[in-house]
Amino acid sequence: MYWEKDIETLGRDGLNKMTLTKLNQMLSTAIKSPYYQKKLKDFDIPNQPIKSLKDFQRLPFTEKQDLRDHFPDGLLCCSKEEIIRMHSSSGTTGNPTVVYHTKKDIETWANLMARSLYMAGVRRRDVFQNIMGYGLFTGGLGFHYGVEKLGAMIIPIGTGNSKRQLWFMKEFQTSVLHILPNYALRLHMVLKEEKIKLEDLNLRIACIGSEPHTEETRRKIEELYKIKAYNSYGLSEMNGPGVAFECTYQSGMHVWEDAFYPEIIDPQTGEVLPDGEWGELVFTTLQREAMPILRYRTKDLTRIIPGACPCGRHHRRIDRIKGRSDDMLIINGVNIFPMQIEQKLMQFEEVGSNYIIEIRNENYLEKIHIKVEIKPEYFGGTLTQLESLKGRIIESLKAEITVSPVVQFVEPGTLPDFAGKAQRVFDLRNKE
Ligand code: ADP
Ligand code: ZN
Repeated sequence: MYWEKDIETLGRDGLNKMTLTKLNQMLSTAIKSPYYQKKLKDFDIPNQPIKSLKDFQRLPFTEKQDLRDHFPDGLLCCSKEEIIRMHSSSGTTGNPTVVYHTKKDIETWANLMARSLYMAGVRRRDVFQNIMGYGLFTGGLGFHYGVEKLGAMIIPIGTGNSKRQLWFMKEFQTSVLHILPNYALRLHMVLKEEKIKLEDLNLRIACIGSEPHTEETRRKIEELYKIKAYNSYGLSEMNGPGVAFECTYQSGMHVWEDAFYPEIIDPQTGEVLPDGEWGELVFTTLQREAMPILRYRTKDLTRIIPGACPCGRHHRRIDRIKGRSDDMLIINGVNIFPMQIEQKLMQFEEVGSNYIIEIRNENYLEKIHIKVEIKPEYFGGTLTQLESLKGRIIESLKAEITVSPVVQFVEPGTLPDFAGKAQRVFDLRNKE
């Protein structure tokens, strides 16, 4: 039942004690980085260890912007020689966030992934099709190393080409998928078009995550493919996947508390909330060598589910992510900030001052539609000139956000006027 019985079934007291010890170890490692040395200068670390979990709440938060501002090595705690991998966020606006890993960090991560997969019922005999982006994005390689560690066979196919995905599933009798929930729904349409029968496939489990989705979506995936689907949560600052994962009871995602210390805070006041209350999820790494991160504000809104899970694991469970406390959008699994779009648009002389962004879901394919005002003097141009401008805008946006938006030009004054704070993003997914 367990990948590592001792650690997985450790009781609450044991986990709390372990957390406290590890937090102090983390603090003495973190303080080696230029960023935390400065940030924690008012705390006498390591001479004054943290005495309780409550005591830990005095420490300041770390945010994505801190990682950007201290690009690339400000949070690094070891020599560069010890680093064997980096991951980085996409986008060219400003500095990307960089996360470094030592050999041991990668091993720890692979083990957490193997533990998560084992918990969801994946075994050595399984054939695992990893339909996630490889490369800087953590979803692909994170699962890849975990599956290998567990000992199942991985098909490192990556994203795209639905027919080819289905062909591999059939020919190699894939039994487990790692797939974006929306893509799972879209892929099923292709499966039907291609008249592939479920009996000719051998699917039994899907790991779905990287983007918010509802319980209904999960159930739909389970019904369409006649499989079990498990929610997988992670973020690159905490490695990537393997931070929290569902067990077979599907009643929340267990956070691996030997590796990450979760807190729920009020996003406005920063005050720590008791288990059961909804707020923003905050994590502290407990096992990092290269780059410990303390009290990282994920901006994800959830709660800790009170009570014990029937599976026997005491690692606390978080509820399905119900939103963000910032304006980050997740479109087909890609993280996008509206500000990235604005910065690119405003670099064009022809673009006026108003624009709106609509997110639509067309046949389970999420699309960004941008309506942009064009200055009157440019509307007089030829159609070819306008088409060429549109092409350049789309190219520039694609380079920034990695996905191609649909761009529509409008005349000034035709978009709604805003008194006060402009609402520019209209998320029409699940609303149309
Ligand atoms: P990833 O490789 O998982 O996309 P990123 O660091 O790029 O890692 O993005 C992390 C963010 O993705 C999280 O902060 C959260 O907003 C979102 N996310 C990841 N997994 C889930 C999930 N299972 N449910 C909802 N949102 C998720
Ligand atoms: Zn459980």
